[in-house]
Amino acid sequence: MYRMFVIILIACLFVSRCLIALASDDQAVPRSADLLSRYIRHKSVTGSERMAGLFFSTVARQKGFHVEVLTDEPDSYNFTASLYPLESGKPNIVFLNHIDVVPAVSVDEFTYPPFEGVIADGKVWGRGAIDNKGMAVMQLLAMQYYVDLATETDLPFNITMLSVSGEETGGEKGAKIIVSEFFDLLNPVVVYGEGGSGVPDVLVREPDRKLFGISIAFKRSLWVELTLAMTTSGHGSIPPSSYVVQDKIQALNRLTERNRRITFSESTRNMFYELGRVEGGMRGLALRNLRLFRPFVVPAMRREEMIFALITNTITITGINTPEGPPNLIPQEITAILDCRLLPETDTGKFLEKIRRSLVNSDVDIRVIKEAVHAPPTQPDEFYDYMKEALQRVYHGAGVIPILAPASNDNNYFRSQGIPTYGILPVYLPVYLLETIHNVDERLPVDDLEKGVEVYRQLIAVLIESEYGEVTNNSSAE
Ligand SMILES: [Zn+2]
Repeated sequence: MYRMFVIILIACLFVSRCLIALASDDQAVPRSADLLSRYIRHKSVTGSERMAGLFFSTVARQKGFHVEVLTDEPDSYNFTASLYPLESGKPNIVFLNHIDVVPAVSVDEFTYPPFEGVIADGKVWGRGAIDNKGMAVMQLLAMQYYVDLATETDLPFNITMLSVSGEETGGEKGAKIIVSEFFDLLNPVVVYGEGGSGVPDVLVREPDRKLFGISIAFKRSLWVELTLAMTTSGHGSIPPSSYVVQDKIQALNRLTERNRRITFSESTRNMFYELGRVEGGMRGLALRNLRLFRPFVVPAMRREEMIFALITNTITITGINTPEGPPNLIPQEITAILDCRLLPETDTGKFLEKIRRSLVNSDVDIRVIKEAVHAPPTQPDEFYDYMKEALQRVYHGAGVIPILAPASNDNNYFRSQGIPTYGILPVYLPVYLLETIHNVDERLPVDDLEKGVEVYRQLIAVLIESEYGEVTNNSSAE
């Protein structure tokens, strides 16, 4: 009997020691990192979001959120997690993120397997760590601080995390469905989605000062196919004075040169103005007065491909095709594919007309393959200021500017409906980490993940303290 007692005692000691070890392990890994790690393990390459979406919506439900699954298909899982049910009809502050990730090619080059969510070296490693599962974790954990408050008090607005599918391939299976079928139910007054982030090495006078760019507009993509047909002699031994391939190459040359004209649209002008304010000094003065300083500023901007892309409509030739044939056969038809990126203020019709004119040959057939949704830039309003305040509460003294982003994402679906939409991943990452997005060894430092949670938490605090909270409060009390 005594022996039995000792055995049981030893067993109990062993179990409790294991539990202590587990508990201290838990303390070592913040719950944000643990949740992100588990989310990454639910692989969700575009078109297969469902299991990851189910996992994350279940976590949200367990944390006390009102969860609504808006679509539940093998290739399209979209859900909301809110402080109040959507049916409450409260004006809704929407935190947008996407469930899907891009595939991991060249898996051999990854330090850790891309879909295992390894936590090592103070970072969470894997596909989606930055783009965009890390942001979902930040949003959900920040909202969790307010679940009890929302139960006890009747806040004048709702806060909803919206997780969607299909962002990486244009949003047809996610944001587009939300906007066309669930817009009224969602009732958004503002959307905070992905876009800008902390950007290093921009400020020349104070290189150590942090700068955040909140995206308020995107260039939109326009994919075009040009087909030129011409009947000429068919043999390469006697070249005709003009034939399609030669003609097209010359025309494309003209096209890519001619359209590199610089336009300072309202949104770019605003971006450089705000940058100038943060920068100060002579450089700041020039950025704030682009008209005056244009002859000095433009040549410098021309040298920076990234900046140059923000002040021009770009045309990139991404394909040239001729019908298959032997090397000595002159093709009678040629097609070229163009990836055009247009500034938000550019009119598509006028842009295509310009292409037609610069091609000279009127026989060319221009076909639009796909055009991204038109969306006017968001004019920074009080919701911009709230995010700016939240960022500055966490990153003291940081500069914050509105930016135009060169590539578009889901935000434009909401902008196209006239909803103010701000793109910001609230972390400050060095370039080498930003470059891991869609690339080998995507990873997010745990400290930055925690800071991101804090920014969203502060954003909610600012919203509650703000005039917006009060104004609506008063009106709802009447
Ligand atoms: Zn993304």
